[in-house]
Amino acid sequence: MANIKKIAVLTSGGDSPGMNAAIRSVVRTCAYLRIVCVGIYRGYEGMIEGDFEPMNARSVNNIINKGGTILKSARSKEFRTKKGREKAFEQLGFSLIDAFVVIGGDGSFTGALKFNKEFDVPFIGIPATIDNDIYGTRYTLGFDTALNTAIEAIDKIRDTASSHRRLFFVEVMGRDVGHIALHSGLGAGAEEILIPEEEFGLERLLKSLKRSKARGKTSSIVVVAEGDKTKGKNVYELKEYVEKNLPIYDVRVCVLGHMQRGGAPSCFDRVLASRMGVKAVESLVEGKTNFMTGIIDNQITLTPISEAIKGKTKIDKELIRVSDIMTT
Ligand code: ATP
Repeated sequence: MANIKKIAVLTSGGDSPGMNAAIRSVVRTCAYLRIVCVGIYRGYEGMIEGDFEPMNARSVNNIINKGGTILKSARSKEFRTKKGREKAFEQLGFSLIDAFVVIGGDGSFTGALKFNKEFDVPFIGIPATIDNDIYGTRYTLGFDTALNTAIEAIDKIRDTASSHRRLFFVEVMGRDVGHIALHSGLGAGAEEILIPEEEFGLERLLKSLKRSKARGKTSSIVVVAEGDKTKGKNVYELKEYVEKNLPIYDVRVCVLGHMQRGGAPSCFDRVLASRMGVKAVESLVEGKTNFMTGIIDNQITLTPISEAIKGKTKIDKELIRVSDIMTT
């Protein structure tokens, strides 16, 4: 057991639904264990400036259902410098903070690890990003909510697509990975799904769209991950290519964008956030540090941060196989 009397919690990097539920869980677990809890505003920016606020069980009333983060988030250039991290360490010292929980992505964890190596402040990371690309957990906070937002939007696009016999390219988030595209495409019954991990090929795309038309389909949806570059083409160039080579189609593009990051978290994300928050605080009390909470086979796990920041989760090949069968 470590002698932890005061724990700080911050959200850092891009926001994602479920961050508030995780803050709530950390604060309430601290209250339960009679540990003083402090919220740090605006990520590492607020840590450097000492923008702290004491939090108790009541400070987190009515936030489990809210998107975004009540603590705000930021990307801090200064924390990337030794001087910035020295200032952050001083501020934690002034406020007698023994350890912290950082809710964010792999960049936030890299910063925390560096900070720990320099100043030995214990921390635990909770993975929160809609992209679901962090190694060491099957699901990150916000992914499930983003999927629900994406399929709701795609369902609506399909209504208009089928009324006008149109083909829609729907771009979803995922700069380096296709998790959102693959899951939402499968869930919304897309005709094709284009992800950065698989080179689909333009010929195959045309063939598939022709086949779809020949089978009498009145509309088609192709879900494209933001980071997909089928033969080097972005979603607008894909539209032009298809219009040129398959003039039978009236093609439109819809980029879902930042709406996927907002909204009330799904039940899955709220439960996951609650479980991860408890694990993070309990782990610090047990003397653990430099770990990330995760969920694997429905068990809450700990993965060394050094491993979590090195890898990316791989796309589920079985889902690709299922998707191929669904689109025949
Ligand atoms: P997202 O998944 O949304 O990108 P993230 O946590 O990966 O979330 P980043 O912007 O990469 O977001 O990192 C958040 C913050 O963590 C940075 O603004 C910076 O303050 C800190 N950070 C990231 N990388 C480092 C690093 N190598 N050294 C020190 N601090 C870092």
